[in-house]
Amino acid sequence: MADPEGFMHTPRREWPRRPVEERVRDWDEVAVPGALLPIVGEQAGRCMDCGIPFCHEACPLGNLVPEWNILVARDDWQAAAERLHATDNFPEFTGLLCPAPCESGCVLAINQPAVTIRNVEAAIADRAWAEGYAPPKPPRRLTGRTVAVVGSGPAGLAAAQQLTRAGHTVAVYERDDRPGGLLRYGIPSFKMEKYRLDRRIEQMREEGTRFRTGTDVGRDLGARELRGRYDAVLLAMGATAWRELPVPGRGLAGIHQAMEYLPLANRVQQGDITASPMSAAGRDVVIVGGGDTGADCLGTAVRDGARSVTQLDIYPQPGKERDEAAEPWPTHPRIYRMSAAHEEARDLGTAPAADADARLFAASTLKFSGDGRGRVRAVRLVEVDDERQPRTGTERELAADLVLLALGFSGPGRGDGILDQLGLELDGRGTLERDRGFATPVPGVFAAGDAARGPSLIVWAIAEGRAAASAVDRHLTGTTRLPSPIGPFDRPMSV
Ligand SMILES: Cc1cc2nc3c(=O)[nH]c(=O)nc-3n(C[C@H](O)[C@H](O)[C@H](O)COP(=O)(O)OP(=O)(O)OC[C@H]3O[C@@H](n4cnc5c(N)ncnc54)[C@H](O)[C@@H]3O)c2cc1C
Ligand code: SF4
Repeated sequence: MADPEGFMHTPRREWPRRPVEERVRDWDEVAVPGALLPIVGEQAGRCMDCGIPFCHEACPLGNLVPEWNILVARDDWQAAAERLHATDNFPEFTGLLCPAPCESGCVLAINQPAVTIRNVEAAIADRAWAEGYAPPKPPRRLTGRTVAVVGSGPAGLAAAQQLTRAGHTVAVYERDDRPGGLLRYGIPSFKMEKYRLDRRIEQMREEGTRFRTGTDVGRDLGARELRGRYDAVLLAMGATAWRELPVPGRGLAGIHQAMEYLPLANRVQQGDITASPMSAAGRDVVIVGGGDTGADCLGTAVRDGARSVTQLDIYPQPGKERDEAAEPWPTHPRIYRMSAAHEEARDLGTAPAADADARLFAASTLKFSGDGRGRVRAVRLVEVDDERQPRTGTERELAADLVLLALGFSGPGRGDGILDQLGLELDGRGTLERDRGFATPVPGVFAAGDAARGPSLIVWAIAEGRAAASAVDRHLTGTTRLPSPIGPFDRPMSV
């Protein structure tokens, strides 16, 4: 332990965010650049170095949290970077984007605010890039084995990096024009700027990973042909099949899926187009879906210059503290969290219909009404009880000329040629079938990430990529030294 009394005399301090008025005028990350480093050493010193660190267990990657907390508190950044990269290929992504289940499992969180684990991680990652503590690691020798990875989201990237470093010749096939998956075209740049992704891709190129962008496997290149060309194939195509809302009026113009809206906003930021044809500028926006994708739509709509934005969540409003009976420590509870986007909506007053921060809880959508010219004009909704039954007399209408559906995803698109061509079935949840060794029923074809696990988190996707790489390595060479942090059927800690 760097400071045996750190947790007693140092209160938790967050990484400050830039003022709302300033940050909604640009698309840069919301945190104040450079404001973390001066506070993070003391924050890391709050770690109690517990005998049984539940943060390890709560992190799917098994990140060695107490080890790098102590190293940061002692100002040994190089060793901290080495320990962090030992378990996490991309800590610059998780340090900004992970919901930090580790902090829910922090022993300090039993009766005090948890250690700011994610912020310490972000600081180490930044420092590692600045000081060159995470250089490219090309393999010393090549094995002569070849692997095709389909999909360049965090699962595919992590697998490709592990397999390349193990000496295999790896090509990542991506149907989009740039690699990154949801990190590229889903997640907005105010959560993570794209230079972080580009920098990592460049490092992977230097290590020898090849990227074949603009190639839709199953359409531009047959999946059987791909299998024939490589010694193994890893499918990491994500969960792109979005959930629908089949209510009257769904066909009206102005109603879009979140993953139709967010990629266009990201393309504007990347300079591909000058303006998004779905921009929320001047519009009354209703987002259906209370999750993180909905919050990303909210932050994007606010920056677009929406007239009003409301986010509908079918679940009741959670409490501010964890429900000890239903979700006891060390599980990651559903509590009322204020994301940067909600803070912006609250401070700017862009959500006149909602209580404080753009969210309407326990709200179910009944129908969409049109303006007589085929465009959506309003959303009709009703308040529901815990069993999702409508409460009488609570029906109301919200003005909306842009509706964004953020209802989640199931698995890979059923129409993807790749599945038919390989003869792969989706299971009852709509995800790819695989065995305990990440292998699909087709010999030499493996599956990882959201495509097989179902929609999840970046930290799980990286863990999936690492574990699947280990399975592929074993398949190719008969043995492996690559770590396997999770099994394909492991799930987050729960009661
Ligand atoms: C809007 C949004 C915001 C999110 N924000 C967060 C967050 O803040 N924190 C967090 O932890 N998680 C977040 N998530 C979840 C997280 O992004 C995913 O769990 C993660 O990206 C899954 O990684 P993956 O590699 O399995 O798939 P993906 O990232 O979906 O990547 C799959 C890739 O495969 C490609 N592909 C598919 N089919 C083919 C084919 N036939 N040929 C070639 N390429 C193909 C796709 O184009 C895509 O690039 C968010 C999800 C969404 C939708
Ligand atoms: S990756 Fe996520 S869960 Fe793991 S240590 Fe980092 S913030 Fe915590």
